[in-house]
Amino acid sequence: MAIRQSRDDQHPTRRGRAELMEKVISALQPNMEIGEEILDALEVDMVNAGEYAPAWLVLTSNRLINVDAHSLSTIEELDLAVLCSFEVVHNIGNGIIYGLTQEEKILLARFSRRYSVDVEQAMDDIEAKVDSLPSAVLFEKVTDRARSMQRRRVERESRRCPKCGRVMRRQVCEHCLEKRNLIRRIFSYMKPYWPWAALSTFLLITNGGLSMVQPFLTGKLVDEVLIIKDLHGLKLMVMLLGGAHLLNALITGTRSYLIAWLGQHVVRDMRSDLFGHLQYLGMEFYDSVRTGALMSRVTNDTQTLQNFLVQSSQNLLYEIVMCIGVAIIMFRYDWRLALMTLVPMPLIVIGTRLFSRKIRATYRRVWVRRALMNSVLADAIPGIQVVKSFVQEKGEIDKFDNRSNQLLDRHLEAAGFRSVFMPFLNFSTALGTLIVWGFGGYLVITRGTLTVGDLVAFLYYLNQFYSPLRSLSAFSDTVQQSATAAERMFEILDTPAENQKIEMPASTPPTEVEGAIEFKKVHFSYDASEPVLRGINVKIKPGEMIGLVGASGTGKTTMANLIPRLYDATSGQVLIDGFDIRDYDLQQLRSQIGVVLQDPLLFHGTIAQNIAYGVPNASRESIIYAAQAANAHDFIMGFADKYDTHTGERGLRLSGGQKQRIAIARAILKNPRILILDEATSSVDTETEKLIQEAIDRLIQDRTTVAIAHRLSTLKNADRILVLEAGRIVEEGNHEELMALDGVFARLVKIQSELGSNIVGVA
Ligand code: ADP
Ligand code: MG
Repeated sequence: MAIRQSRDDQHPTRRGRAELMEKVISALQPNMEIGEEILDALEVDMVNAGEYAPAWLVLTSNRLINVDAHSLSTIEELDLAVLCSFEVVHNIGNGIIYGLTQEEKILLARFSRRYSVDVEQAMDDIEAKVDSLPSAVLFEKVTDRARSMQRRRVERESRRCPKCGRVMRRQVCEHCLEKRNLIRRIFSYMKPYWPWAALSTFLLITNGGLSMVQPFLTGKLVDEVLIIKDLHGLKLMVMLLGGAHLLNALITGTRSYLIAWLGQHVVRDMRSDLFGHLQYLGMEFYDSVRTGALMSRVTNDTQTLQNFLVQSSQNLLYEIVMCIGVAIIMFRYDWRLALMTLVPMPLIVIGTRLFSRKIRATYRRVWVRRALMNSVLADAIPGIQVVKSFVQEKGEIDKFDNRSNQLLDRHLEAAGFRSVFMPFLNFSTALGTLIVWGFGGYLVITRGTLTVGDLVAFLYYLNQFYSPLRSLSAFSDTVQQSATAAERMFEILDTPAENQKIEMPASTPPTEVEGAIEFKKVHFSYDASEPVLRGINVKIKPGEMIGLVGASGTGKTTMANLIPRLYDATSGQVLIDGFDIRDYDLQQLRSQIGVVLQDPLLFHGTIAQNIAYGVPNASRESIIYAAQAANAHDFIMGFADKYDTHTGERGLRLSGGQKQRIAIARAILKNPRILILDEATSSVDTETEKLIQEAIDRLIQDRTTVAIAHRLSTLKNADRILVLEAGRIVEEGNHEELMALDGVFARLVKIQSELGSNIVGVA
């Protein structure tokens, strides 16, 4: 459990606080549900507006609870199941932590100013933890919490499900994602393989049948061979039994391969469906989810589903067949005895259900602990250089050991459950066996209504009856787990792909563009609440080089992103060659636009493959030509493997400037009509910048270029510079004109030259 106290840890009253916290936790314990546990706790210092007193905001696996540390009374409580997000507001007098549900905003805790930083940090962690709980909804990424909350509130109002009218949390209405439909939809993945599924079902029933024959044969072996001492019969029976066993083994083997085959095919199909769909989802989707959560959907959820679809559903069938079949046989042997074997049944069913629920909760806790431990690994290993230079090895070791021990505790807890429940269940089963021996034996000895062989057969059947019974009792949990996985998978699959072209465009634009760009009264906001672009009007001629400048956060990148339609304008139009970009085929449009970003991404692969990313079948000559134009050829030839050097390999760490030039080569090879350079020369040294600038000068020839520049000096050659301020173009002209104007641009230039040309200035 991570316990946070305010930063003045050396404070003399710290011990006092720790005791308060212990008190709070022990006060909570009796009210906690089975399986609920405390995951985190954050100390705050106000209980009411203006009322300073210690309180703790405690995160359990089910709830958030604010507890008054002195009176130990609960101030507020919020169920995680309804929690959508947090909002931390810093007012002048105090700060407030809100929990947001779909319907309301709940005041969770208050804190004074000196707690602000701690609260911010702690809430980040708490949010991450809530997110990592398997039951948690997919949390939205929170960058600037206050703003994103505001946005979400407005969005929620504006986004209602067209079907049911309820407010949608994401792009798909969770209420309309019908649960019943889920199962049907999962099973549709089996459709292409139905002959194999049918064969495996047939084999399964044969399996069951053969299993049921064996006790019968055994009974006969006792009664009609052993007791009357028939040697010939013995040979026959042993052979028969052996045959049944052999056949069963063969079928089991075949079936197990068949099931694996089915399962792997189904999971492969699900994975590629998901990944395929993800590739076409719009940026809005990616803005709202966390990468980790998404990756787990593609890998884990599909695995869970295939287990359910193939293993569990087949097992279910088998168990039902066995349960019913064996029950009928047992009643036919002797109904009184059969009835008596039902006596321990409630123990077995209830015990199994309780056990599977408990153990699942325990494993969930193991899972959370493991994630917490892994997070230390994920920080400390890639960050080893930082750890070492700040001499934090010991600290990291302590942190790791601490979490590692917590994981150990959880594992032991799970082991504890097992060691209580398993013997209990085994004993309940044994009880049944005892009843059969006792009452059955009594029937054999005194009444003679049952033969010895019948008794033996009965004992075998009993075994075959109890074990499916146990699996069946735990089945609802499996269903629930799978339903959750299915829900998450279909939520992605049902999210509409990014906007394709308008169904029937007013006119069809040509496939080759010339490169004129026009922004016509363009307004844009990422959400309904905060406008980012407020009425952009600009015409760019083909081949023109436009510089885009303005302070950080004024909307330069946003404006550039509208051109390849990464986002659509909220109102107004973006036109290319006079056609609304929504009339273009999206892929067609993007293939005409080249983008070089500040921090270029290289994929795993060779340098040549990276340059040819947009043109996979480019010839080696054209790749080399592009690299030469990008001033990258020389350094590439300096590597041992030259163009076949792997970019991701250890030992080869490309510098920022080198990556940048590869990205430029990539853009040159793509030969786009329109080029977007988003701070492409920001993070390199002056020497490299010269090389890059040269490359860029070659790159922009004969293309329409929109260059967002960090260093204003690099825009000297621009035909026109647009100065953006708060989402509007406030100045427009070439370098000299803008200097003469002596306005915003001139001021920015002055600041930069005062700071020195190499110092990070305004971008
Ligand atoms: P610039 O490139 O001029 O620095 P941006 O266009 O990146 O500015 O951002 C403009 C504003 O839009 C900023 O306030 C930023 O926080 C916000 N913003 C940028 N990207 C997103 C996004 N994906 N979702 C929500 N808000 C965003
Ligand atoms: Mg930017």
